[in-house]
Amino acid sequence: MSNRQVLQAITLLSMVAATACVPPATATTAVSDVRGASVASSPPALAAIDTVRLRRDLYTMASDAMRGREAGTLDELRASAWVADRAREAGLQPAGDDGTYFQFWPMRRIRTASQSHAALDGVALELWKDAAIVSPVDASIDLPVVWVGAASADSLARLDLRGKAVAALILPPSRPPVSWISLRAWRYTRQAIAERTAALVKAGAAAIVLVADDSTNNQFMPVSVTMRRGAYNIDTTGSDRIRERQPVLWVPQALQARVESARRLTLNLRAETFVYPSVNVVAKVPGVDPALRGEYVLFSGHDDHDGVRFPVAGDSIWNGADDNASVAVGMLAIGRAFVQQPARRSALFVWHGAEERGLLGSRWFVSHPTVPLSSIVAVLNGDMIGRNNPDSAALLGSQPPHRNSAALVQMALDANAHVTKFAIDSLWDRPNHPEGWYFRSDHLPYARAGIPALFFTTLLHPDYHTPSDEASRIDYVKLARMARWMYATGWDVANTSAKPALDPGFKLER
Ligand SMILES: [Zn+2]
Repeated sequence: MSNRQVLQAITLLSMVAATACVPPATATTAVSDVRGASVASSPPALAAIDTVRLRRDLYTMASDAMRGREAGTLDELRASAWVADRAREAGLQPAGDDGTYFQFWPMRRIRTASQSHAALDGVALELWKDAAIVSPVDASIDLPVVWVGAASADSLARLDLRGKAVAALILPPSRPPVSWISLRAWRYTRQAIAERTAALVKAGAAAIVLVADDSTNNQFMPVSVTMRRGAYNIDTTGSDRIRERQPVLWVPQALQARVESARRLTLNLRAETFVYPSVNVVAKVPGVDPALRGEYVLFSGHDDHDGVRFPVAGDSIWNGADDNASVAVGMLAIGRAFVQQPARRSALFVWHGAEERGLLGSRWFVSHPTVPLSSIVAVLNGDMIGRNNPDSAALLGSQPPHRNSAALVQMALDANAHVTKFAIDSLWDRPNHPEGWYFRSDHLPYARAGIPALFFTTLLHPDYHTPSDEASRIDYVKLARMARWMYATGWDVANTSAKPALDPGFKLER
């Protein structure tokens, strides 16, 4: 279909939806706000959030030309500049540092330096092919190797391993992680490596060589890639220093015979640390009520993803279409809606950088806000809003212990009841859900700082964090509907006289 046909079809569909689903009595009724009651039900600029524009923006943002928008690279900066340009075009005002749309901040990375060396019996191991360094560490050792094979943790205690390099098979973890779809094998492997390392350190090993077993060998590539990338943090002095620790090598099964027969391990490993910029894009639409325009409803998402990595089925660009171009372009659409019809309070938009490196951009913004933290009345965060069943979605932070504002939750549920009518999945918001999804996006630092916060998402899928999270796999009608839900909720928050109250006694389970 042409764009025009798509537009006509969508217009028709939304008319059908409106007549089919909305009881006439509530379809367009705006409730009076004299006592601070909810003003839900009729956000005025829903049509500003349209699938044609969303599709066009998302295809650009998740295109191969954007190279996966990895934090701390020129690719993230390019994507951020693109977002800021679109925000400016849409009529949003800059709300970052020094009158710009940007808030640059320093990211620190620790990784194994490329001049590091490892050898068995004087023959070099090619790092990241023959052997991965599990964590960056400074180490200079030349030690005899003891092969303990599959010896159990108990039997290790009876061996004399103090001060030696110990080579061992990886064993299945005692507590295999429960996980959903794509990351199960990856997490299993990390857990197996962590448990085996802990047992060998406890037994006194001064250096460790782990050989992959049947259940972890096929994870050598994806897991060693993340080891090679190292660790990221915000650059704050004193934090994240390298602890004194034993060097740990991980080798694939193919090297087992060589490791078993080795007599000496020589390591010359160097950890290197450097600081480089990431960036948050910050924009606003000022409110129109002189008494309330100094307060903000904050729309939150991240514009980074995982960049260019090892190829999967011939594709090496991890486009991050759902994660999280979906929300990034959804926020542009919500911005256009607020420009078309501003609310009483101001709307603030923060496209965080480096979410994928550990919620770094949102942690930075909360500790260096460009508006007073106390003026942010609610945070509506989205992460992955364009996949899975067309009629269901999740709202995390909607039930204890994740809920920190029953009033805000009610506004979101009302907006859904009036506008978007998703069936709401509640399983993923439970504290015992194996994914711990609540803890994995940018609302979290705000919630921890005592700001009412919600997380809108359509949840994980098999393309999550793979190169096949592509623009062609997005459900654009659903994406528009999710953006409309976030907009309708924010519109209510921005216009209701009383800001959403924080629940007393909010305490997360971790
Ligand atoms: Zn994400």
